[in-house]
Amino acid sequence: MVWSSLLELLLPTRCAGCDLPGDLLCEECRQALPLIEREWACPRCGAPFGHLVCTECWKAEPAFEAGVCVGSLAAPLSRCISLYKDSGERRLGVLLGDMLGATAGVWREWPQAVVPIPPSETALRRRGFDHTGVIGSRVATALGVPLMHALASTGARDQRVLGRTERRLNVEDAFVATGGDPLPPRVLLVDDVMTTGATLDAASAVLLAAGAEVVRVGTIARAW
Ligand SMILES: [Zn+2]
Ligand SMILES: [Zn+2]
Repeated sequence: MVWSSLLELLLPTRCAGCDLPGDLLCEECRQALPLIEREWACPRCGAPFGHLVCTECWKAEPAFEAGVCVGSLAAPLSRCISLYKDSGERRLGVLLGDMLGATAGVWREWPQAVVPIPPSETALRRRGFDHTGVIGSRVATALGVPLMHALASTGARDQRVLGRTERRLNVEDAFVATGGDPLPPRVLLVDDVMTTGATLDAASAVLLAAGAEVVRVGTIARAW
């Protein structure tokens, strides 16, 4: 497109990891991604602390059955996520979604639908786009299943400003089922970042109550 080449001339693509002009994510930064090895991650939530169920999942069994995560929330992955979410570099959503699609590929044939965590009204207004919807649609395409916007946000506060206990309380009623098409039995729920897992736990519970039989989760990055 003429417009995109003109834009490229005026504002050349810079690497989301190191800022050097060229690719959206240069080869060096791709190599430096803090990827999580699935064999060394908690099978329940994807935390990279060994291949046994982590203490967090032992303490409070989450509503989702299993989880995978692309990497740890560290540079350059963390930078890609914040540039995507907060600086509006939407092409990164495609790149991040494809990464999660590849990671969740270990479950090929398992999910029958992909459901993204819906952004809150405030976040949607601030960013102007549904950041998890973009990621979810790439994952759905990679796995060859439909994307279903089966959840709606009830307007809980931004989790990022809250502590651990507050996060759990904040999300208890954060989601409702949209009540559209019936959910298939096996659903893959996707989000950008998992911290305590409280958001994914609450959303999984809503999907189970709305007709899903098993929910698994996939996230781009794991934070602590
Ligand atoms: Zn780079
Ligand atoms: Zn765990």
